[in-house]
Amino acid sequence: MIESFETWYEATATRSTAALPLSQKLKADVCIVGGGLAGLTTCLELARAGLSVVLLEKSLLGSGASGRNGGFVSNGFALGMEDVERHVGLDAARALYDLSRKGTDYVRREVAPTDKMGDGWIVASRHDDHGGLKAHGQAMQQHYAEELQHFSTDETRQRLASPRYFESLLYPKAFHIHPLRYCLALAAKARLADAIIFENSPVISSQKSGSEFLIKTAHGEVRARHVVHCVSSTGRAVHKPSGRAVLPVATYIAVTEPLEQNSINTHSAIADTRRAGDYYRLIDQGRILWGGRITTRVSPPSRLAWRMKQDMLATYPALGDPKIEHSWAGLMGYALHKMPLIGRDAEGQWFATAFGGHGLNTTAMAGLILASAIVDGDDSYRRFVPFAPQWAFGQLGRLGVQGSYWLMQIKDKRDESRLFSST
Ligand SMILES: Cc1cc2nc3c(=O)[nH]c(=O)nc-3n(C[C@H](O)[C@H](O)[C@H](O)COP(=O)(O)OP(=O)(O)OC[C@H]3O[C@@H](n4cnc5c(N)ncnc54)[C@H](O)[C@@H]3O)c2cc1C
Repeated sequence: MIESFETWYEATATRSTAALPLSQKLKADVCIVGGGLAGLTTCLELARAGLSVVLLEKSLLGSGASGRNGGFVSNGFALGMEDVERHVGLDAARALYDLSRKGTDYVRREVAPTDKMGDGWIVASRHDDHGGLKAHGQAMQQHYAEELQHFSTDETRQRLASPRYFESLLYPKAFHIHPLRYCLALAAKARLADAIIFENSPVISSQKSGSEFLIKTAHGEVRARHVVHCVSSTGRAVHKPSGRAVLPVATYIAVTEPLEQNSINTHSAIADTRRAGDYYRLIDQGRILWGGRITTRVSPPSRLAWRMKQDMLATYPALGDPKIEHSWAGLMGYALHKMPLIGRDAEGQWFATAFGGHGLNTTAMAGLILASAIVDGDDSYRRFVPFAPQWAFGQLGRLGVQGSYWLMQIKDKRDESRLFSST
């Protein structure tokens, strides 16, 4: 079969006919900009609370990162908890972790059983770090009551038959899903709760107008008491206070043909501990969904499928020569501090963005937090004040981030080569 740039998720989800673009003037309690998981969850929760909600999506629902990601759902943030703790102290870090856990619980509750594809997440070390991973696991148990299980190198290799791996941690409560079908299901539930959703409706401006906000597209407008910006890295010009703090970072996925293999012997999701490592899982009929590589370029590299296959075979040469049937790129949004940006600007416009590579639970968390802030005046969003939007230095910031990823890759390679030269 010829490699396809359509995602495997698009090939295995059913979209109804695209919603019509906004072409009229509407009034609503809340207007949401962006139809990824952050926008859809906020929309659903507000509609369930009885508010009138209009959601405007530039393209198709879930066409951004939300419908094309790895599908791993686990507690925490893109920034590791040790770093969160260093920034805000243990008590505040615990409160943040509990919020992230609510996001995981939400996805577990809302995802259709048929769209949940497996349980557990294994994080494996690619070098013998002399108990470092085990100590990290113990700290996660002690500080955050996270359930996990430690596997020795032998136990790890029973599951992941590669000499590249050493010890690992299993997060048994994590799980993995079909993210696009999940997005579309959230949208269907929001519509049932009377939310109005428009696709192919890029928002071009959002400003205060008297006691309301006026949100405009090329052919229509919405007046609303509240506006929530959930556009991640692809619509940064609409809400500048959050947009200028977000950098686009690309990562890539390939999906093989159905395989019979003995290399990956687990239905849990897998990632390694490298700073810019691989993440993968078995999906239907024994296909491998393999993700990895991180760059700040926004277009996919040439020969993407071939490159991803080389990464896969570097870990599992026994896979032979599997056909790659789908490969694609996706753009994440990152703040420089790597924590989500959730809050309200001086004018009163809400934002929820920059979930980085850990967005499945944190977008759900943000939707819950912002819906209860708007409906009940709940101030949990203030937990994110220490991670306020800061200018990300535009193009210079992207170059800086690219440089730091290269540096991470060099460090990762050095750690692994130290090991191979000492064995
Ligand atoms: C390849 C890949 C793998 C990943 N793997 C994982 C994983 O395994 N686990 C995990 O937790 N996270 C993962 N992530 C991260 C996660 O997917 C994201 O953090 C999350 O989906 C972000 O959701 P979002 O709603 O903020 O952004 P998006 O999904 O990008 O949605 C933003 C939406 O806003 C729309 N928009 C932009 N501008 C406008 C405008 N002007 N008007 C109207 N709409 C606009 C866009 O079209 C888009 O639909 C991965 C990401 C990628 C790319």
